[in-house]
Amino acid sequence: MPFPTLLATLAEVRRRIAAAVVRGGHDQAVTIIAVTKTFGPEAPMAAFAAGLVDVGENKVQEALDKMPHVSVPVHWHLIGHLQRNKVKFVDPFVLVHGMDSPRLADALHAHGVSRGRPVPVLLQVNVTGEASKGGVTAADLSTLAPTLRSRDGLEVRGVMTMAPFDAPEAALREAFGGARACRDRLRDAGLLATELSMGMSADFEMAVEEGATMVRLGSILFGARTQ
Ligand SMILES: *Cc1c(COP(=O)(O)O)cnc(C)c1O
Repeated sequence: MPFPTLLATLAEVRRRIAAAVVRGGHDQAVTIIAVTKTFGPEAPMAAFAAGLVDVGENKVQEALDKMPHVSVPVHWHLIGHLQRNKVKFVDPFVLVHGMDSPRLADALHAHGVSRGRPVPVLLQVNVTGEASKGGVTAADLSTLAPTLRSRDGLEVRGVMTMAPFDAPEAALREAFGGARACRDRLRDAGLLATELSMGMSADFEMAVEEGATMVRLGSILFGARTQ
């Protein structure tokens, strides 16, 4: 059986998430997204067998190649950067986490209109302004939020962020807390933005303390990636 320790690890992760919810005081439900990138179809199958329904992939083509070999009804999340010329491939995904620019928002909106069903998306925010990371800044939100509200090809469910890698706790808290503030601003602008996708294997407890409703976990569940 692939991933023989998955069940025990998952129980431990769930326990740590529950404790972090209590510490953080946001009283939110937290969905675990099993990040299966670089692994074969056995990873989503094992996740599903362990009780996880939500699976995340960061590359469209890799996900599309994997899907036909996964015979269980997982929900696919696209968690990575999406190029505008690939928006036509988003239909099998329940949620696009990486809407990281106004131009991509325009392209996804156009796709949602043309297919007659809005595209469920999260707005990717880059709170700390790291140049290497995608996403809109908090300052962009004032103009972007009303625009998004008028885009009926989009269903803006909330915000996603990638925290700085290997940063001190204060910087992580700033990134996570800032993302939560962005989500709340979208809500205040009249969007049905309830979700907050943040936290990976190394920092998910802090993300949950800061209000994450979705954590994206790869290596802690499936082991180190070789690619
Ligand atoms: C790979 C990836 C993750 C999972 O990372 P781990 O550290 O293995 O948990 C989460 N989010 C995104 C966007 C990723 O690309």
